[in-house]
Amino acid sequence: MDCLFCKIANKEIPVELLFEDDLVVAFKDIKPIVPIHILIIPKEHIESVADMSDKHETLAGRMIMVAKKLAEQFDIAGGGYKLLFRVKSNGGQEVPHVHLHLLGGGKMSENIRVA
Ligand code: AMP
Ligand code: ZN
Repeated sequence: MDCLFCKIANKEIPVELLFEDDLVVAFKDIKPIVPIHILIIPKEHIESVADMSDKHETLAGRMIMVAKKLAEQFDIAGGGYKLLFRVKSNGGQEVPHVHLHLLGGGKMSENIRVA
């Protein structure tokens, strides 16, 4: 499977993993848009949230809980942060493997417009 995030999850591409368990891995975004920008991804290849089904309920919950714990670890939980799933083309998703963005380290503007 020629998927960048699968390669990161199965360690074909070495990146510093901030977290790993049976279902997910987390690592720093290569082009951070805020001071703390972390991606939480499933080990399983799923293209987008739109491709998830009820069997992925545990996985979906795990991704959010891992993001919450990383926010605490990186000391952004008190002030707050943003969790973002971009979904397919209209949502601005560029990498076709589900990923949850953990964004923090300052006050963020909304910046959501339909082009
Ligand atoms: P999205 O637009 O939601 O699909 O976000 C994809 C994100 O993946 C972007 O924020 C990219 O900066 C990030 N990204 C792309 N390649 C890598 C990589 N090799 N390591 C870490 N993050 C990456
Ligand atoms: Zn993949």
